[in-house]
Amino acid sequence: MAPIAVQPTTATASTTTTVLPTSIETPPTHPDILRVDRGTKAFSSGAVSLISLPAGSLFAKITTATPSKKAYTSVQTGANSHIELNSDLVYCNHSCSPTLNFDMGKMEVRVVDDRDLKAGDPLTFFYPSSEWEMDQAFQCNCGSGDGVCKGWIDGAKKLSRKDLEGYWLNGHIEELLKERDS
Ligand SMILES: [Zn+2]
Repeated sequence: MAPIAVQPTTATASTTTTVLPTSIETPPTHPDILRVDRGTKAFSSGAVSLISLPAGSLFAKITTATPSKKAYTSVQTGANSHIELNSDLVYCNHSCSPTLNFDMGKMEVRVVDDRDLKAGDPLTFFYPSSEWEMDQAFQCNCGSGDGVCKGWIDGAKKLSRKDLEGYWLNGHIEELLKERDS
């Protein structure tokens, strides 16, 4: 995952040049549906949709994931499990008004349920829908506006039920919220 226009928040991250697992030398993994816009600055790359799809429909199956440690590129799949996507899907940035849901139980990426996807839309998902505690928290610049943008994105653990209202959440996040609030 490559958060939108963020500065790394840990001392180690800010002094390290981070390289995404797929680089410009690697052939595109989803050339029919996704274009990667590569920024010149760290964390400024993003994915753009090449296709239009109705709300709720399947965008892509996640077929190349491998178990991994928690990292800024990993996606959480369970209370204690994470994967690397090993594909251009890693360029889907966070947004508080996302276009996609990453369903890590079904290993599929779907268009959000309340909005159609249009060719040219940025491909984004709501990181707290899969991440309990982010590897690298960041200040969101998604531009969703007051009351919609959550600002500091640190994972679902730090968000209130009210903040999470209206978002599709992975099963492990629902479970962890239940534990937190019980
Ligand atoms: Zn935001």
